[in-house]
Amino acid sequence: MHPSRRNVESWTKTLEKLLKGDLKMVQCRICHEEDLDSNMESPCSCSGSLKYAHRKCVQRWCNEKGDTTCEICHQVLFSRSSS
Ligand SMILES: [Zn+2]
Ligand SMILES: [Zn+2]
Repeated sequence: MHPSRRNVESWTKTLEKLLKGDLKMVQCRICHEEDLDSNMESPCSCSGSLKYAHRKCVQRWCNEKGDTTCEICHQVLFSRSSS
């Protein structure tokens, strides 16, 4: 995915942070794409490689399943944080 032109400047700053180790890339457990951990949510109590998912992926997953509970830890997704 290419960043749009107006996002190039902020993307460059993001890359600098990434190279310095301030940010890290993590994998979405739903779509399996890598993204910055700052762009990801940890919607439940799962940890490790299952910890992170995009908010939009979780929402899509919940819509498809008709369920808002994590299959693995059985916690209601996003129940901990409302921000
Ligand atoms: Zn995703
Ligand atoms: Zn879970």
